[in-house]
Amino acid sequence: MIAVSSRPKRRREEEKELGRQRAQRKRRPKRTSKEKKDYAVKRGSIRGSTKKKDELTTREQPPIDPALANEGLIPFLQTTLCRRLVWKEIYSNKELSQCTGACCDVCNPELFDRTRPGAYKARSRRSTVKKGEPSVMVQERLVGWRTVVKKRDFRTALWSAEGILPLETIIVLSSVGPIQDRVALDRVLAGQWKWEERYGEELLAFLKSFEMPAFQPLPKKKRKAPAASTSDSQPPAAKRARTMASATPLATPAPDDEN
Ligand SMILES: [Zn+2]
Repeated sequence: MIAVSSRPKRRREEEKELGRQRAQRKRRPKRTSKEKKDYAVKRGSIRGSTKKKDELTTREQPPIDPALANEGLIPFLQTTLCRRLVWKEIYSNKELSQCTGACCDVCNPELFDRTRPGAYKARSRRSTVKKGEPSVMVQERLVGWRTVVKKRDFRTALWSAEGILPLETIIVLSSVGPIQDRVALDRVLAGQWKWEERYGEELLAFLKSFEMPAFQPLPKKKRKAPAASTSDSQPPAAKRARTMASATPLATPAPDDEN
């Protein structure tokens, strides 16, 4: 094929270069995964994390080949000198302009503080309170309670009462027997109910306003018995509650979303 412009020629050169690199890679002994990791770490792969391990132990810039399709992107990512030096070379600038502020993350690692992700916080464990057979009566009352609270405090909000007291929480509350005080309530909720601070007292007062049935241990055997049971064909309490709460929320509000 005749090269009519410089472009096909350039592509041929690129391909040649890539072939050369591939052959080189084949000749080199294979890097172990530890070596690969070390290479990446030395070139900044863990910088900018919450652990603030931003220091660089090597100072080097991989060679830039402007003919390659990546146009120096790999040296730009892996350099441990200055990212602007790579730009300078790629754009054939004569010199680096004077920096008036921070230069780049290599020269000014403090820039990472602007983008560092927050500390990872493991979710607190689910309630360790023993759960028994859920009480449908308690579930129905709690569904009523959350509807009243939603109407009273968030009349115009677009989300449903599920946002006040999720079904999941209702099932837990209905499966533990009578809840006498705030300590017991807190233990059952285990920090999982985001409205606890605002509505904890009110919920406790509500739960004490009627007689909560005693704790009913779950049957030991046949926990997954077929639906067609002997006496009545009632679905399990948890399932019934799901049906009751069929008005799925449009969005779950956060406590500070209010008004
Ligand atoms: Zn720099």
